[in-house]
Amino acid sequence: MPDHKTRITRLDKLHNAILEYRSRLIAAVSNDFSNRAAAETDIAEIMPLLDGIAYYRRKLRRLMKPRNRHVPLTLMPAKVEVRYQPVGVVGIVVPWNFPIFLALSPLVGALAAGNRAMLKASEFAPATGELMQQMMSEIFDEDEVAIVTGGVDVATEFTKLPFDHLVFTGSTQVGRIVMRAAAENLTPVTLELGGKSPAIIHEEFPIAKAASRIAFGKGINAGQVCVSPDYVLCPRDSLNAFCSEFADAITTSYPTLRTNQDYTSIITDRQKERLEGYLKDAVEKGAELITINPQGEDLSDTRKLPVTLVLNATEDMMLMQEEIFGPILPVLSYDSLDEALGFVNNRPRPLALYYFDWNSNRANEVLARTHSGGACINDTMSHVMADDIPFGGIGPSGMGHYHGEEGFRAFSKAKGVVRKGRINSTAFVAPPWGNVMYRGLM
Ligand code: NAD
Repeated sequence: MPDHKTRITRLDKLHNAILEYRSRLIAAVSNDFSNRAAAETDIAEIMPLLDGIAYYRRKLRRLMKPRNRHVPLTLMPAKVEVRYQPVGVVGIVVPWNFPIFLALSPLVGALAAGNRAMLKASEFAPATGELMQQMMSEIFDEDEVAIVTGGVDVATEFTKLPFDHLVFTGSTQVGRIVMRAAAENLTPVTLELGGKSPAIIHEEFPIAKAASRIAFGKGINAGQVCVSPDYVLCPRDSLNAFCSEFADAITTSYPTLRTNQDYTSIITDRQKERLEGYLKDAVEKGAELITINPQGEDLSDTRKLPVTLVLNATEDMMLMQEEIFGPILPVLSYDSLDEALGFVNNRPRPLALYYFDWNSNRANEVLARTHSGGACINDTMSHVMADDIPFGGIGPSGMGHYHGEEGFRAFSKAKGVVRKGRINSTAFVAPPWGNVMYRGLM
């Protein structure tokens, strides 16, 4: 079992390699997207990774320590403890939207817990996958950490391997297939899936502030983020103000689109067509669109799609049924907080929930009355950056966690141990039974 020093050495190697490869990794992601801002990759992928490594460096000794537990009367004298052991080899399946962070962040947890790992990079981010493969081969032996690249055929074979733990990040639909494959080997899974994460604004909260934080969450990576706000529940009287403030915030961040390096493209033509299909379907069913394209640029020969608000969205529209995963935001209105929470609770449990309200009692009530993988109060997406809290979904948005202590535990086997010394009272508990002793205990 790798000791503390070996684990720290592995984490350090990874840390140094990320720094050394930083600009090449950023360029590879931009290449895969055809355009993504260097700052976005740095802020959303590289920095949280380095923070995650620093977290485990700081906490590892404490996390690895066996924990003493309660000794029942019947076992005394004894020592009862939990020891955390690496599970073995962790498989990690990676999506395209944050192809560095979603590969290496689970890896950091797996290495901290003393495991070896195999990763399957996304076929839709091939430049990043190949570069990470090269980077890993320079710092790790192949039987320590290995990365494979390839499409669905490779992914299918990969998920059939008898891993000791499998982390899958991707869609809910593929998550089901992966869990079935893992079941054949009785491999435990962590499923980091998608969903429709709501943003709810309380009527007393300043609408411009909420609009600006939601615009930030929708603009990053052009909404191709698992925790991007998927729809907004806005007090009815503030609907127009929200749309106008949101459009202003997006325009300030992205005054042009076509050649703007800060505005990320949609990853593939197929994904762009999917998103345009949602808009077409919504308009045909009576929705009104507010397209935020400040210069009115023609983007038809690019993979860029303007941020678009959708008003009058209804349940029968595809964009209210499927996870959007792009720069489209339906804005729904509500008359009472109960109604807004009812709407959320009548739908599948989301990966994230965002609530805007200065009143912390009400915010606590919203947290207590809703289920979501994680949540932010008065912000969007920042919970992913907090390295000391677990990250993971619930129900169709996923199962299990990584990051922080929970991540370490997920990749460890908690082994329960009873230690007996020279004096062993239980040694006297043996047949022939008689019944005097047991009657006394009950
Ligand atoms: P996807 O499910 O299409 O693919 C993810 C990975 O699974 C890829 O590596 C792919 O090769 C592999 N794969 C595809 N078909 C497979 C099969 N039949 N068997 C085994 N593996 C298979 O997802 P995507 O399009 O890459 O990513 C978008 C989805 O991921 C969205 O739903 C998003 O919400 C979700 N996501 C979730 C998180 C999270 O942390 N919860 C993070 C990012 C993305």
